[in-house]
Amino acid sequence: MALEKYHKKRSFKKTTEPQGKIDIVKGKNRFVVQEHHARNLHYDFRLELPEEWRSGSIVLKSWAVPKGVPTEVGIKHLAVATEDHPVEYIDFEGNIPEGNYGAGTVKIWDSGKFSKMKMEFERKKIKILEFTLSGKKLKGDYVMIKTNFSANRDSWLLFKK
Ligand code: MN
Repeated sequence: MALEKYHKKRSFKKTTEPQGKIDIVKGKNRFVVQEHHARNLHYDFRLELPEEWRSGSIVLKSWAVPKGVPTEVGIKHLAVATEDHPVEYIDFEGNIPEGNYGAGTVKIWDSGKFSKMKMEFERKKIKILEFTLSGKKLKGDYVMIKTNFSANRDSWLLFKK
């Protein structure tokens, strides 16, 4: 079920993060990169997509990118998939209080639209995403490839083409 993992990790009495609706059927092809000063600084890259990639409720497919989304061609950065976030999270900025999941400050580093989304599957599992970003900082064609680097983490490589 959409957002189950997201809800399990949070107490909405304690954090101002959005609880989110789960019945959104059509996305607006937006993306966001949130700079997250948690225990370790990282950038959360989120794409507004269906939960099951080609079907399902619209969620924010999410990755933690320790070094940020590359702005230049030729740099490959690790992106670790995290739980789907509600679409409303796309505007979230603020402080997640101490003692809560992801405690620290969140601010939007870049946002905009994506286009020309292309998905490739391998044995019915998502393998490659290709898309064009039109943000303020991020512009151009990007590729994400799921890797087999780690058995217990859902790791991807993210780079600009
Ligand atoms: Mn984060």
